[in-house]
This record gives sequence, C-alpha cells and structure tokens, in this order.
Amino acid sequence: MALTSTPEVRTTKPAPVTAARESDAAASPARPRASLFENVIHQFNKAADLMGLDANIRKILSKPQNEISVNFPVKMDNGRVEVFTGYRVQHNSALGPFKGGLRYHPSVDIDEVRALAAWMTWKTALTNIPFGGAKGGIQLEPWKYSPDELQRITRRFTYALGENIGPEYDIPAPDVNTNPQIMAWILDTYLSTIPPHLRQGCTHVVTGKPVVSGGSLGRDKATGQGIVFLIEQWAKDKGLTLSNLTYTIQGFGNVGSWAARLLKQLGARMIAVEDHTGAIAEAAGIDPDALADYVRIKGGVRGYESATAIDRVALFRMKADIFIPAAMESQVTAATAPMLEVHLVAEGANGPTDPEGDAILQQRGIDVLPDFLCNSGGVIVSYFEWLQNKRSEYWDLEEVDHKLRKKILGAYRSVRETAAEFKTDWRTAAYIVALRHIAIVYNERGIFP
Ligand code: NAD
Repeated sequence: MALTSTPEVRTTKPAPVTAARESDAAASPARPRASLFENVIHQFNKAADLMGLDANIRKILSKPQNEISVNFPVKMDNGRVEVFTGYRVQHNSALGPFKGGLRYHPSVDIDEVRALAAWMTWKTALTNIPFGGAKGGIQLEPWKYSPDELQRITRRFTYALGENIGPEYDIPAPDVNTNPQIMAWILDTYLSTIPPHLRQGCTHVVTGKPVVSGGSLGRDKATGQGIVFLIEQWAKDKGLTLSNLTYTIQGFGNVGSWAARLLKQLGARMIAVEDHTGAIAEAAGIDPDALADYVRIKGGVRGYESATAIDRVALFRMKADIFIPAAMESQVTAATAPMLEVHLVAEGANGPTDPEGDAILQQRGIDVLPDFLCNSGGVIVSYFEWLQNKRSEYWDLEEVDHKLRKKILGAYRSVRETAAEFKTDWRTAAYIVALRHIAIVYNERGIFP
C-alpha cells in the first residue's frame, strides 16, 4: 500500500514537545544561525537533560579530546607550491580507537570537523562497535586539482598527521570527495613511514580501501545498504510495501547512489534527485543504475536526458513517501522543512537537519531516521574491514551483509524502544542509547587519577 495523503501543515506555531530546549527552538526560528558544533551540543543537551546524564560525563563529552590542525606545502603540476590546511578532531575514545572519515571540501573547518567527530562518537556507541569518534579533512576544492596533485596532497597530509593516526589509535575512512583510491594512498604513505617489520600488521590503519589492498567486500555500498535495511524495517513497521513507495534524494555520490540502486532492487521509485550540479525529476521514475553511469562520466546529474531539470525548491516540495538527504549538513531547516511533503526523512548525510528543521518535522508528524543511526552502515562495515585485516581474513559478501543487517537493525530496535520509553523523538532516543553506553564505561573506569 502506498502512502496517498501527506500532511498539509504549514504552521509556524510550536507544537507541544517534550523538552524545553526544543520548544525554544521551534518558537524562535530567528535564532542566530548556530555553528554545526552548536547544533550537536543542542541535540546532545536535549538528550542529556531528558535522561539525567551525570553532570561530569556531560562536561567531558561536550568537548573533543584532541584537535589537530596542520598546514602543509604541496608542489603543484605547474611547479608552484600551495599550502593546505588539514584537520583531525578526535572527539572521544572511551569505547576504543578513534574512528571517522576524511572529507575534502571547501566547507571543511575546525567547527565542521568537530561536529562530525562528535557524531562519530555517538554512532559507534549506538551501534555497539569498539571505536571512539573522530573526523578530519582538508579545506580545498578537490575538483580544481589533477589526480597527481590530489595524490601528493593526500600523501603529504598523511605525513603531516604522522603518529596522530594509527591502526590501534585513529583510523580514517572515506567521506565527501574521498574514496578507496585516496585510502590506498594513505595506507601506502603510512606504511612507508613505519619500520619495515611492522608494516604487514598495520593495514588496518585506514578502512574503505580497495578490496585488493585489504578492503572489505561490501564497504563501497555499506552506508547505502544500511539506509535501505532501515527503510525496509520502517516500512514493515508501518505496514507499507516498499515496492509501492516513491522517494526523492539529495546527493548522488557514494551514499545517495548506493541507497538508490539498492532501493531499485526492492521496487521503490526515485522521482527526483539533486546534487551539486542541479536537480532533475521524472514522475515515472529515474533509473538509479543508468543515472550512476551518467554521473560517472559527466560528474553530476545535470543534463541527464531521461528526466526534466527542476530547481532546488521543487525538489523539497515534491510529494513523495521518503526524502533521503545524502549530501551536506543543514539542508532541512526552518526554510525547507515546511516544504517537505513526505512521511519519512532518512538521513544519509551527517547533520542534514538543523534543530529548527527538526522541530518542524516533529510538529508535522514526519518520521526521521536520524543520521547517526541511518548512515551507520559505513562505520559498521569499516569495523568489519578492520577485523578482517587484524585476522588476515577475507569475508564473503553474504557474511558482511548478514552481519551489517543484524547490527544496524539491533540499533534500530534500541532506538525504537528508547523513544517509546522516554516518549521522545528518534534522534533524542538515539542519543540516549549512545550516551547510556558511554556513561557506563566512564562510571566503571573512573577518571584518572
Ligand atoms: P560523496 O562525495 O560521494 O557525494 C556527495 C554528494 O553530495 C555528491 O552527489 C555531490 O554532488 C552532492 N552535493 C555536494 N554538495 C551539494 C549541495 N550543496 N547540494 C546538493 N548536493 C550536493 O560523499 P558521500 O560519501 O556520499 O557522503 C555524503 C554524506 O553522507 C556526507 O554527509 C557524509 O558525511 C555522509 N556519510 C558518508 C559515509 C560514507 O561511507 N561515505 C558514511 C556515513 C555518512
């Protein structure tokens, strides 16, 4: 059964909500634009208030453990030298080595990386994998550089990070504009800088590698696969048949394109897509595999012949069952949340919904699969890759998919139960599950000295 009616609510009046902080946000859409890390703290505080998180643990988790910033020179193809700024923020390691992606994008700055690192801490705690949270990146426009230049930038960044990364200490992975090739360069550079007799035991310094260089089968599609397992479960819980559902998607890179290609196998219809080159729509459905082939050649969805160009607002206003933001943060806001005519926002991206947007989604009764649950498939399979490297094993795809499904649906159930227990939204419930886990560890281990 497809969903046929969509909520028409257009009010800005705040709905009764469970926590004071959120009703503040809903009542004050004019709140000065907060930084991304302030958004994280806003979400964190709401959950911490509701669950009564210990004040000392709250203090510890409100700040990252370490922040590394490096400026490093790289020779360009024309012989000139450019100096780049790279970051690695290690938010928390109570549960295990720091873990998180590296992003190459002009928006990368210390605040963005800090926020993304904190979300990694919650993600690994929620999914119960023995990692802490970190994130990193370089502020640059990667499309301006040749493959050779990108290789030198990557290698020099890895060298600049030095012992701040390591297979049992801090393990990077792909994120926006980084991919298995970049992970292979990081691996090679790292191994070249440590003593020869240690090298074979250190291939787990980075995950998301090409399979022949020690990567895991299924890591390329893992984040999209996780999203699809969750959407399938959500539809089941709602008594809906996926093959009757439609969706729109923002971002058609690793996460967005894989989610779409896997949803196609279940019969769901993609009716609009946006990426950094533009937006397109087709009510009869856009074939994700054909579009992925087109994007591989053309670099974006713009100009795809079997769909019509639309503007960004039309994408947000398009009536569909599901919207999957799978690009950048702060896309669902006070301005765009009232436009959405969907029943579910499945957050493939990190931080796609800001607190004002979140309050509006709740007020309008739109379900949300929150980012650090919804996109956790990537880090879960990164953990499997790390384990395979440590044990010198290669798992087959069925084993990877089976274990991913089990883990991500376990997290889904914990969030669903906790949302019911606290009568709260799923994002806050996901925080509560994650924070409970970390709080137990701090309580058991105490604070040195
Ligand atoms: P990617 O570089 O492969 O793709 C990014 C996509 O976003 C591209 O299609 C790009 O065109 C689009 N995009 C960029 N700016 C845009 C804009 N302003 N408007 C519309 N579209 C825009 O990156 P990815 O790995 O797919 O990551 C996407 C999101 O998913 C990020 O938030 C990332 O942190 C998150 N994520 C990624 C992984 C992973 O395994 N790669 C895991 C968890 C979360």
